[in-house]
Amino acid sequence: MKLIDLHTHSTASDGTLPPAQVAQAAAEAALAAVALTDHDTTEGLAEFLAAARPGGPELVPGVELSVERPGGGSMHLVGLWMDQDEPRFKQGLERVQAAREQRNPKIASRLQGLGVDITLEEVAAVAGGGQVGRPHFAQVLVDKGVVQNPGEAFGRFLKRGAPAYMEKERLSPGEAMALIRGAGGVTVLAHPGLLQLHPAVLEQLVKELKDQGLMGIEAYYSEHNPALERRLLDMAARLGLAVSGGSDFHGHNKPGIRLGAGQGTLRVPASLLAGLKQSRDTLSG
Ligand SMILES: [Zn+2]
Ligand SMILES: [Zn+2]
Repeated sequence: MKLIDLHTHSTASDGTLPPAQVAQAAAEAALAAVALTDHDTTEGLAEFLAAARPGGPELVPGVELSVERPGGGSMHLVGLWMDQDEPRFKQGLERVQAAREQRNPKIASRLQGLGVDITLEEVAAVAGGGQVGRPHFAQVLVDKGVVQNPGEAFGRFLKRGAPAYMEKERLSPGEAMALIRGAGGVTVLAHPGLLQLHPAVLEQLVKELKDQGLMGIEAYYSEHNPALERRLLDMAARLGLAVSGGSDFHGHNKPGIRLGAGQGTLRVPASLLAGLKQSRDTLSG
């Protein structure tokens, strides 16, 4: 069976492989297709798409947007095949980026206020030119010996409710999906299992999202067990949604997750591409 991976991250967000190397790794893993879905950015896509090789995997431009979750917090939507130069989509991402850039200095000054010797420049250096986020703050805290490991950094300082946490301004799910669809992209609810909702509550949420423009769900995911995968496949069929799947590969930032294989048992069939493309083609048709 041919396999694909439609959820991966590069150095353009919080992964450790440059975009071209994600494409290269997919070729080495003999995947039929791979999507690059960096958080709130399409910066890596030009390099990624330029790494296409005859006979290699199909390279799918993607993005993962963090959106408001009804009742608070966030959830993630994956967009696939959007035209990254479509003006409204581009402006939408620029707004998200601006909000993110305002957030990092606030986190740094909160930490300084807590007596931690840290500067935004140090955090940016750890991000290596990519987009700066909380994992990079965590890394600096580890490097400085303030905490033992990133988990402790999140627990003591960075997680929601912790003293250096800053709320992020997010798009609503409807806004995000309108941006993706307006750019010709397919909208997918990422890792529904991580929402940890009762099955009936999840189905209700997915129905509401479908009314707002959701086209597919990520039934296959590194952290979904077989029973959950089955349930999500059934739900997609019941609600008339396409099915997607991916590993959420981040390179060394998630050492247990391999491209195309997740924790070792993930198998996302290439046959899903047909359904996803069919959904995409309804947008222009
Ligand atoms: Zn995610
Ligand atoms: Zn992801």
